[in-house]
Amino acid sequence: MPTERKFPPSKLSTLEKGQEIKLPVEFIQELSSALSLQEVLDSVSQWIHKLFDAERASITLQNGHDFLKLYSISGNKAIPLDYDVPIADTFVGRVFSKRTLTVCDDLEQSHELDCQLLSQYGLKTCMDAPLISGDICLGTLNVAHNQTNYYTELHALKLQCLANWIALNIRLHLQVKELKYLASTDHLTGAPNRRAFTTAIIQSIREFHEQGKLFFIGLMDIDHFKALNDRYGHNAGDYVLRKVVKVTEDLVGNLGHISRIGGEEFAIILNQSCEQEAVKLFKAIKDALANTVINYDGEEIYFTVSIGVTHIAQGDDTPESLLKRSDKALYNAKSMGRNRVNTFTTTRLLN
Ligand code: GH3
Ligand code: MG
Ligand code: MG
Repeated sequence: MPTERKFPPSKLSTLEKGQEIKLPVEFIQELSSALSLQEVLDSVSQWIHKLFDAERASITLQNGHDFLKLYSISGNKAIPLDYDVPIADTFVGRVFSKRTLTVCDDLEQSHELDCQLLSQYGLKTCMDAPLISGDICLGTLNVAHNQTNYYTELHALKLQCLANWIALNIRLHLQVKELKYLASTDHLTGAPNRRAFTTAIIQSIREFHEQGKLFFIGLMDIDHFKALNDRYGHNAGDYVLRKVVKVTEDLVGNLGHISRIGGEEFAIILNQSCEQEAVKLFKAIKDALANTVINYDGEEIYFTVSIGVTHIAQGDDTPESLLKRSDKALYNAKSMGRNRVNTFTTTRLLN
C-alpha cells in the first residue's frame, strides 16, 4: 500500500470546485493585523493545531541555497530553532523543491530523516504544503498527527489554501523588511546611509536630553580622493570606500557606528562620555586608515583621512548645530594639512 500521496496544484484545483473552507474570524483578523514576520508566524501557530487536529506543527522558511530554517510551533509561538533542515534528502525539502503538497500516511515506512524523527516522537502521519506566493516558494507549512492515514483530500485542500494565504502575508513582510534595509543602507559599502544616520543622531540627541547620555560625533572625509580616483580609477576608489567602512567598524565595535553620509564623507557616532577616550579612538581610526595598504590591480594604494570631532551639548536640540561644529572642525583639519583629527570641544559645550 502506498504511504505517500501527492497533491500538485492541478489536482488541488480540480478538488477545489464547490468546496468551502471555514476559518475562525479571530485567526483572519490576527493574521491581517500582524506587524512583523514573527507576528505572522505566531498567529499561524495559535491556530494551526486546532485547524488540523495536529499533534505537532512547524513552518520552514528558505535559508540560503541548501537549507530551510525550522520554526517549531509550540503553544501560540513560532520558535526559531537552531536546526536548519537540509533541502536534499528530506521530506520537507522535497515538498519545497517540487512545490507539491505531500502527505506521508505512515511515517514509520519512510526513510527520510525528518519523517523518522517525527516517528520517533510517536507521530504516525504528516502533511506538508509549499508556501507559494506568485512565482516563488518561501518554505513549507507542516502538520503531523498520531494516527496513520489521518489526513483526507479535504485536509490537503485546506492546508494548501491556508499555505497560499500565509505565504502572501510572509512575502509582504519580507518585502517590507527588504525595503527598510534598502532605504537605510548605502549599497556600495553596506554601511547605514545618510537617512539612517539622521534617524540615529536624532535618537542620540533625545537620549542625551532625557537620560544624559553623552556622545561624540566625528565627520570623516577621505583626503585628496578625487586625485586617487583619477590616478587609480573609480573601481579602486570604490574599493577604498569599502575598506574605510570595514576598518572603522572593526575599531568602533559596539561603542558606536559609522554611516556613509556623502560621496567620500562618513559620520561616526561614538557613545563615549570621556573626551580623551573619544579622541584617542578617532586618532586610532585615522592612523589605522593611514597604515592600510590597498593592493588593487597590482598597485599599492595608500590614503589618509581627516576627522572633525565634536560632542553633544545642552544647546543641541537638532542635528544641525552638531554637524555645523564637526564640519567646521573638519574644515580646519583639512586646512591644517589633512591626515589629522581636529576637535571642536570646549568646557562651555559640556555645561
Ligand atoms: P579633500 O582632501 O579636500 O577632501 O579633496 P577630495 O579630492 O577628497 O575632495 P573633492 O570633493 O574634490 O572630491 C571628492 C571625490 O570623491 C570626487 C568624486 O569623484 C569622489 N567620489 C564621490 N563618490 C564616490 C564613489 O561612490 N566612488 C568613487 N570611486 N568616488 C567617489
Ligand atoms: Mg575628500
Ligand atoms: Mg568631501
